[in-house]
Amino acid sequence: MGNLGYTDTPVIPGSKYLVHDGDRPQPPVVTPGAMPGAAPSDAIILFDGTTLDGWENFSDGSEVKWNLSGGFMEVKPNSGSIATKAKFGSCQLHVEFAAPAIVKGEGQGRGNSGVFLMGLYEVQVLDCYENPTYPDGTTGAIYGQFPPLVNACRKPGEWSYYDIVWEAPIFDGDELVKPGYMTVLLNGIVLHNRVELQGPTEHRKTASYKPHADALPLVLQDHGDLVRFRNIWYRPLKGYDQA
Ligand code: MG
Repeated sequence: MGNLGYTDTPVIPGSKYLVHDGDRPQPPVVTPGAMPGAAPSDAIILFDGTTLDGWENFSDGSEVKWNLSGGFMEVKPNSGSIATKAKFGSCQLHVEFAAPAIVKGEGQGRGNSGVFLMGLYEVQVLDCYENPTYPDGTTGAIYGQFPPLVNACRKPGEWSYYDIVWEAPIFDGDELVKPGYMTVLLNGIVLHNRVELQGPTEHRKTASYKPHADALPLVLQDHGDLVRFRNIWYRPLKGYDQA
């Protein structure tokens, strides 16, 4: 394998490999999805539009009451937020959503839901198409902390998609070793470029970290509006040279 690269080059600082080291492990092969947004070969499917088996009521673990039809699920207002049975930390996450086609309410009351990484860190879902509200609560905001760089909303009823890169915070006992970082794209447009989160999402308060598990469920919010979701998958995020 040595003939793939060089053996007379210096070590790359911070690594155990030479510059152009032919013996360095090859990147694993992943087959991309056939269409944009389709799950790649190593993705873990959380929702494929046919079943809610992988989900449960967030507050009490009971059966999900949200409506399932036509390849998507729709919030059943006041039935509760829902959580994946799967628990995970750092990841690449793909989620598609649509605000109700029939526009109702304004500000935070229009097409409100949310994608909560680890059930704690919310990327806001809202219909902000010609619907202003406080900027750190608009579509794609990291709620209460960071407004998105742009408003990339489609019209109500049209499907949109988030691609999120999430680096979970790391704790050592009670101590925060590394904060969480998030990168978010809405409809292929960057909203957040690896921003450092200040802690779990809060309403009308500043955030601060409290220790939590390394792996927790993904949560979708019931905020009383008929928001739809489809095609949800993630890939665990780990270092290239890690097992
Ligand atoms: Mg919300």
